[in-house]
Amino acid sequence: MLISKNKDKIKIGNFTFGEDLIVIAGPCAIESLEQMEAIAKMLVSRNIHFLRAAPYKPRTSPYSFQGLGKEGFEIIRKLKEIYPLHVVGEIVDLNDLAEYLALFDIIQVGARNMQNFELLKGLGKAKRPILLKRGFGNTVEEWLNAAEYIYKFGNKEVILCERGIRTFEPLTRNTLDLSSVGLVKGKCDLPVLCDPSHAAGRRDLIASLAFASVAAGADGLMIEVHNHPDAALSDAKQTIGFEEFDRILKVLKKMAMLFGKRF
Ligand code: PEP
Ligand code: MN
Repeated sequence: MLISKNKDKIKIGNFTFGEDLIVIAGPCAIESLEQMEAIAKMLVSRNIHFLRAAPYKPRTSPYSFQGLGKEGFEIIRKLKEIYPLHVVGEIVDLNDLAEYLALFDIIQVGARNMQNFELLKGLGKAKRPILLKRGFGNTVEEWLNAAEYIYKFGNKEVILCERGIRTFEPLTRNTLDLSSVGLVKGKCDLPVLCDPSHAAGRRDLIASLAFASVAAGADGLMIEVHNHPDAALSDAKQTIGFEEFDRILKVLKKMAMLFGKRF
């Protein structure tokens, strides 16, 4: 595999994946300019530089909130003029690639699209880091093969994100497979983040899973945070508020030191 030979580090702004503990935080979906501004302001005041911002939501039910779509692009355009944030957004259609290249610092491929090979090939030709989530029904080998697609088509900046896999346990939405972090690191040098939010599907487990992810060797986290978590239009149950986010950041600071990462 080509990815196993790559040693180059991915750099975005002042941050180097693998050296800095990367925290990407924000709501499940872009809902309004007011919502995004409140969250962006909070992140900047906490010295967090990566904002998650999804214009499109690939939802299981067609009746669930689908995201603001192109209206979301306008909100990101306005935010980027004011806040010094690197924005991470999920792409669902290659026809939107030009917009994503104009607005997003990292382009996300969601779990449901991990094996959308035409999407992977198209992103392979793009010059932008790709955050590739693991499919909830996919093995580590399949996940790495998906990364290989992007890589083979020319884009060497692939960031992996473990977001839990489907198991027989009904009390959580998915099971966060922390062994995958070490397995991936044994096979290649691509950075691996963990997403405790989509793994747990419930707010009360986000902190413990975030800490466990860092202890397992993850290079960072993606966490769903909202100014009014109970009112979030998607994934409210797993979305934390600012207070809980602050509590997590406090512990992460200490953990980063212990695990040799800048934070
Ligand atoms: C997301 O991060 O917005 C998302 C939909 O997650 P996943 O693709 O992991 O389900
Ligand atoms: Mn979500």
